[in-house]
Amino acid sequence: MMRMLSCLTALWILVSGLKLDSFAQSEVYRSVETDSMKIAITFDDGPHPTQTKQILDILDAYGVKATFFMVGVNVINYPDAARDVISRGHEVGNHTFSHSIMTHLNEAEVKREMERCEQALAELCDYHPHILRPPQGALNPQVQKCTLEADYSIILWSLDTRDWESKDEEKIVDCVLSSVKSGDIILMHDYIGRKSKTPQALERLLPELLARGFEPVTVRELLYD
Ligand SMILES: [Zn+2]
Repeated sequence: MMRMLSCLTALWILVSGLKLDSFAQSEVYRSVETDSMKIAITFDDGPHPTQTKQILDILDAYGVKATFFMVGVNVINYPDAARDVISRGHEVGNHTFSHSIMTHLNEAEVKREMERCEQALAELCDYHPHILRPPQGALNPQVQKCTLEADYSIILWSLDTRDWESKDEEKIVDCVLSSVKSGDIILMHDYIGRKSKTPQALERLLPELLARGFEPVTVRELLYD
């Protein structure tokens, strides 16, 4: 009898342990269910000294706020661009320090990648992000556990413009307009390592999205307001 009880106890510990493990991870958002016309436009991999500014000027012209997932090393290299994004009222998310693929790292390295990006933003302008987008959207339970412990939500996307590979702004515009729906999180880039068509595409997209009744907001507003 005792043996059976101890077996049952061991089984219970195993099952509850598994259950705890499977829940001890950050929330992952790709889009949001909403009755409103809200969408979130997001820019990864910046800041960049010229391209981010171009994008900020276009967003300002239409009174739109967006979310920028910054790479820590770019925050350090281009502090004025990072400061500009924050001072113009946009949201900033953590995109790691060196754009490492987090599923290739051990636990200590995952934490260091997040913390060093955080530190760069904190030292620059006392900004503390609470959303993380892992490079390439690469996730595993270890990354999710670390992000939960650091009190982050993970933000992926529902609409990938693939702007980084596009030589034609028309393609980026079509990609969005042909499928955009309420609650979408749209992935774009403000730094691709060469000249990009993203600013031109954004210039054409924003008036059309607004004319269709969409309300572009930050990720935080899409998730919580
Ligand atoms: Zn990236």
